[in-house]
Amino acid sequence: MTTVRTATPEASGSGREDGLTEREAELKALAERAGRDLEDASAPEILQWAADTFGKEFCVTSSMEDAVVAHLASRALPGVDVVFLDTGYHFPETIGTRDAVEAVMDVNVITLTPRQTVAEQDAEYGPRLHDRDPDLCCALRKVRPLEEGLTKYAAWATGLRRDESPTRAGTPVVGWDARRRKVKVSPIARWTQDDVDAYVAEHGVLTNPLLMDGYASVGCAPCTRRVLEGEDARAGRWAGRAKTECGLHG
Ligand code: SF4
Repeated sequence: MTTVRTATPEASGSGREDGLTEREAELKALAERAGRDLEDASAPEILQWAADTFGKEFCVTSSMEDAVVAHLASRALPGVDVVFLDTGYHFPETIGTRDAVEAVMDVNVITLTPRQTVAEQDAEYGPRLHDRDPDLCCALRKVRPLEEGLTKYAAWATGLRRDESPTRAGTPVVGWDARRRKVKVSPIARWTQDDVDAYVAEHGVLTNPLLMDGYASVGCAPCTRRVLEGEDARAGRWAGRAKTECGLHG
């Protein structure tokens, strides 16, 4: 396993009016075309396309809620990089899931850590920033590290699903990530929770033990609670606040 403490990447140059390099413009067109062509493709087909198109320039990101997308991707691209953001605030069960994925699956887990430890962040911003300004905390501990950690890839895969919340209902199976200038692949966008459960059962895929303990979506410990009956899967994230996303997928 590799642990990377993130730092500022070098800026990429561009001579185009839209600010994209020629390569980025090609990737954007490719993403938009693939989003249309692969809308009805299966998750393995979408991941095989990504593996064949991008090879080692393709990675999967995982919150270690489950290893479904990592498992699917490892079949298309054995040894695929699986990028995990260690915010310093995870449940022990999440770190254990990460370690188990690394031990039993044909993947290369890369752990990204923020520039500052929690103690360093507390010293600069005061303790419990997640209670006072969760957007800033997520920006420092999730959004920026991922941006910096993804620079070497042309495409990344997520486990986003359209049925998770209204904010994710329009997720394309392949799209252009304008913020990071990468192709963003969401191979299970069209899946339901039942599809996930069936895949986990059929293939014995690792899942976070907290999913068996009332949590429907697993994030940082200070910002995650169990869901109540009838709530959507992400209702336990930043409960009681207007915030519903960490900013990784905006
Ligand atoms: Fe901070 Fe909470 Fe965001 Fe984690 S989910 S980075 S603890 S605000």
